[in-house]
Amino acid sequence: MSKIILTGDRPTGKLHLGHYVGSLKRRVELQNSGEYDKIFIMIADAQALTDNADNPDKIRDNIIEVALDWLSCGLDPAKSNLFIQSQVTELTELSFYYMNLVTVARLERNPTVKSEIQMRKFDKAIPVGFFTYPISQASDITAFKATTVPVGEDQLPMLEQAREIVRKFNSVYGETLVEPEALVPENSVCSRLPGTDGKAKMSKSLGNCIYLSDPEDVVQQKVFSMYTDPNHIKVTDPGTIEGNTVFTYLDAFATEDSFAEFLPDYKNLDELKEHYQRGGLGDMKVKRFLNSVLQKELAPIRARRKELEKDIPAVYEILHQGTIVAQKEAAQTLAEVKAAMRINYFDDEELIKAQQLKYNEQ
Ligand code: ATP
Ligand code: MG
Repeated sequence: MSKIILTGDRPTGKLHLGHYVGSLKRRVELQNSGEYDKIFIMIADAQALTDNADNPDKIRDNIIEVALDWLSCGLDPAKSNLFIQSQVTELTELSFYYMNLVTVARLERNPTVKSEIQMRKFDKAIPVGFFTYPISQASDITAFKATTVPVGEDQLPMLEQAREIVRKFNSVYGETLVEPEALVPENSVCSRLPGTDGKAKMSKSLGNCIYLSDPEDVVQQKVFSMYTDPNHIKVTDPGTIEGNTVFTYLDAFATEDSFAEFLPDYKNLDELKEHYQRGGLGDMKVKRFLNSVLQKELAPIRARRKELEKDIPAVYEILHQGTIVAQKEAAQTLAEVKAAMRINYFDDEELIKAQQLKYNEQ
């Protein structure tokens, strides 16, 4: 069986470190591994509209930001199809049919949707489109017969929903769709990177992000004002690691090489943590180290972005070409789905003959 990747991001803002460690970095590695037959990376603008219907310009303006972030991190249009969801109308059509295979009760149980509804303060005024976005995600995944979906942990309930739809569809209409697997980062810190304020998830909507395109001084300022251990007041005080965001970020980004380069007094993160817990290590020293580690990771991304920003029409053209390829793939799957559901009336000569026969026999 072919190995196919589908994943994507909502164009609700520039991409941040959470996206990077949760999914983007992995995508680039998978892309360059040469192990995948096809790779589709989607800008989920239609999904973003489900909770931004009154602000289409925000979505429109952020499409280019997401594309620039992708390309500067190393997604390569020669290897990955980068496309825009709303322009592949087959995806919407698939959703309409999948909706019949999912109950309202099942959607209500989705923990990610539940917490997102709370976060957006929808209360009872939930847009139907938002409520059903797990179904639309199942369409995105299955339209490309994706086997692998590299995502952060918050997306696991969506993958489960997609798998259920596949199983249900195949059992009702015959083997047609492929069941996808989620690929979450092995490092659990990376599968849900907290915000700089210590909140559970770095998220565009919460305004607690370090963006991949932030200038050097902005990254430094954000790192220096990060949430640490509120009880660690004097340098000599023993400090706590758990829930200390600076250490969580080091768990995600620091390697032994980082210590050799920027903080050679310590061999690795365990030694640094041990000193902090014992007391005698100030927050500023740890923050300065984290800043160096992040700047090293972000500098080449920032530099590539500056180059790409010089030719914006070329970036739109990459998305356009990727969308053409994606549309062809999705149309093929949609045709198979409609044939399986027996709603391919004009393509089915047998049907027309049989209906005639029925009348001939009367
Ligand atoms: P929004 O607030 O608009 O939902 P977001 O910041 O949650 O934006 P998405 O576009 O919803 O970003 O997520 C894109 C991908 O990035 C998903 O695979 C998601 O799991 C992953 N991701 C987002 N935030 C984080 C995070 N803090 N840690 C790890 N992965 C993340
Ligand atoms: Mg999100």
